[in-house]
Amino acid sequence: MAEITKSQASQELDKIRPQLNSWRDAYYTKDAPVVEDNVYDKLYNRLLELEKMYPELVTPDSPSQEVGDVTLPDFNKVTHEIPMLSMGDVFSEAELAEFNDRIEKNVGHEVDYNVELKIDGLSLSLIYENGILVQGSTRGNGTIGENVTENVKTIEDIPQKLSRPLSFEVRGECFMSKKEFLRLNQERENQGHQVFANPRNAAAGSLRQLDPKITASRKLKTFMYTIVTFDDLNVTTQHQALETLKDLGFNVNPTAQVTTGLNGVKDFIERYGELRDKLDYGIDGVVLKVDDLALQQQLGNTVKVPRWEIAYKFPPEQAESIVHEITWTI
Ligand code: NAD
Repeated sequence: MAEITKSQASQELDKIRPQLNSWRDAYYTKDAPVVEDNVYDKLYNRLLELEKMYPELVTPDSPSQEVGDVTLPDFNKVTHEIPMLSMGDVFSEAELAEFNDRIEKNVGHEVDYNVELKIDGLSLSLIYENGILVQGSTRGNGTIGENVTENVKTIEDIPQKLSRPLSFEVRGECFMSKKEFLRLNQERENQGHQVFANPRNAAAGSLRQLDPKITASRKLKTFMYTIVTFDDLNVTTQHQALETLKDLGFNVNPTAQVTTGLNGVKDFIERYGELRDKLDYGIDGVVLKVDDLALQQQLGNTVKVPRWEIAYKFPPEQAESIVHEITWTI
């Protein structure tokens, strides 16, 4: 890392922050990104690098301090009792090994990870009371999300009534299949509407609709992966949580596997890096989660991300993208 003075770092950060915030506005608020994710990620990582060099330059409005999404004014708001966080990411095996070293150093021994696909959609929270779906919401800024209950009720794979009278919150990803994305964009083009940039933005734009009939017509899907509260459930690991969600009737991605340390993670990454084009849903990486929920608790979170999980991000899929890269020059 080239050393730069604090004043140079400060000047660079003054340019980076508003640029990232404007890209975030297009992506999170308007569901219409103006640059590729890898362009955003590159600049975001430069911001992290500079803030790591000079922590005193971190400002409260820095994108490193905030979970991205904003809530649209048209929706009623919900408060997430337990914040819905973002996730740290790495782009190389070396960085993955650093993450694993940090975990092992922290807990004092090798750990098991539940390795999952990183589904390219938007986070969704579902609340059940006595087995009945009573609320669906978006992540929003992590603490305040949008109430999209009526829209969520139109998603076919979400159970509205569970076989057991559980009161709990589950979280996962709402996404649009590639097939539905192509159908929708074709329809929009025929009707003279602006097309969506990618399935992730199409899913976000379709869930955040004021008219549930529009959401219903978009055929959204979900993969649920987190049980937030464990009342009456005998669950102590992430892989048990996935099994339980499946037993309760949620749609759970079938590819997850448990691995000790980083054994097999490289193979998993390679396998799904090759298979991703063949899947009918977008993935932008692989997520490693410490499997033991008690260890997750022990490791805790930063203001923005859990310390017990990390995303390994795949390189961008060129063919699918219709957003053109903007070259960033400082
Ligand atoms: P993120 O989307 O990279 O990662 C966190 C999210 O991953 C979670 O909130 C969850 O919804 C999701 N996820 C998918 N599969 C999961 C699984 N199996 N387990 C747990 N979580 C899973 O983080 P973010 O903060 O939502 O957004 C940052 C991303 O958005 C970056 O990839 C960035 O490139 C992109 N972005 C792009 C632009 C742009 O202009 N192109 C702007 C802002 C952000």
